[in-house]
Amino acid sequence: MYHSNIQTHRKDFPILQRSIYDKPFVYLDNAATTQKPDVVVEKIRNGYYSVNANIHRGVHFLSRAATEAHEEARRTVQRFIHARTPGEIIFTRGATEAINLVASCFADAFLEEGDEVILSEMEHHANIVPWQIQAARRKIALRIVPINDKGELCLDDYRRLFSPRTRLVALAHVSNVLGTVNPAEELIAIAHSHDVPVLLDGAQAVPHMHIDVEQLDVDFYVFSSHKIYGPTGIGVLYGKERWLDAFPPYQGGGEMIASVSFEKTVFNELPFKFEAGTPDYIGSTAFAEALRYVEKVGIDAIAAYEQELLDYATAKLRALDAPIRIFGEASHKSAVLSFLIDGIHPYDTGMLLDRLGIAVRTGHHCAQPLMKVLGIEGTVRASFAFYNTRDEIDALSNSLQQVVKMFVRK
Ligand code: PLP
Repeated sequence: MYHSNIQTHRKDFPILQRSIYDKPFVYLDNAATTQKPDVVVEKIRNGYYSVNANIHRGVHFLSRAATEAHEEARRTVQRFIHARTPGEIIFTRGATEAINLVASCFADAFLEEGDEVILSEMEHHANIVPWQIQAARRKIALRIVPINDKGELCLDDYRRLFSPRTRLVALAHVSNVLGTVNPAEELIAIAHSHDVPVLLDGAQAVPHMHIDVEQLDVDFYVFSSHKIYGPTGIGVLYGKERWLDAFPPYQGGGEMIASVSFEKTVFNELPFKFEAGTPDYIGSTAFAEALRYVEKVGIDAIAAYEQELLDYATAKLRALDAPIRIFGEASHKSAVLSFLIDGIHPYDTGMLLDRLGIAVRTGHHCAQPLMKVLGIEGTVRASFAFYNTRDEIDALSNSLQQVVKMFVRK
């Protein structure tokens, strides 16, 4: 049933109709950012044209309307990831800022010299560098979970990394390079058995699978709007209320206060305590529109269809007449396909594919420690969204075959 809808859905994304170098545009860089359906773009346009006024504390009509739209957007996010209260949804600039917020506030509140934080070899820089900054400031140690040959976390090593000084676990839910879907519930249960809270980086998970933060019992969950068909510059930190309540503020300014005097400032309640300054109240409503769009298509239908695309693409690449290496062969994988063709630099592959109208990403994908573990400089990464088609994957594999021929001829 879903296949018959795909062309209808594609029409919702005007950019997919364009051509590049007179070739049909094949966009396979969805893990970097997704394209936007017209309802999202229209929401931004309509927001600025019809509902634009600074939110909170305004008595006039538009300010109240904009405030209500922003808070409704928060409730939409809450519903989408099944959080208990809207107060547990903090709007940030994206997954990166959300992780920085947790790293900074958690360290302020709970970390002392000699404490330990567990990360893994497959983390994006966004889930490494904020912890390194705190490690340098507070002399805490980072403990790293290794991966196996298939690109899965080694669970026995993970279990062994816990010590009486472990204070937090921060792991990718889904790897942006390997596509590995980590066993979130098991990882969280293990950490909780040591009374250690868990942050999951859901940047690559939320667009592709049903997320229920309550069911996961995760303590912190972060993701970005732009990777799930929403606008850039906005994202989410979900945090359990008891943690967020225990955190000091992240930034100071307007919005995050209940009252200010030079003698004493009282901070606002959740979620506003963490939202200093004018928030992206137009972005939040467009973000919520994107989530509603995904709900309409159906996240389970998206997951099933993308799995088919991934299986199809993997088989196609394996069948190429070329020495190809695929990185990430986890038994539970999301719609990311990283590979190298022996003897062809990933940048060359990427540039030649570009000339054929195909957008893929090349390089280290902000995961240099993982590249070091894999013993490579970078990969070519094709990443899929529910608007991609088998025809586009055929175009990728045919173009790759052409790339291989060009290099063999040289
Ligand atoms: N974490 C992962 C796994 C990612 O793939 C990305 C972006 O590629 C991020 C975090 C950072 O997201 P953003 O740049 O939207 O903050």
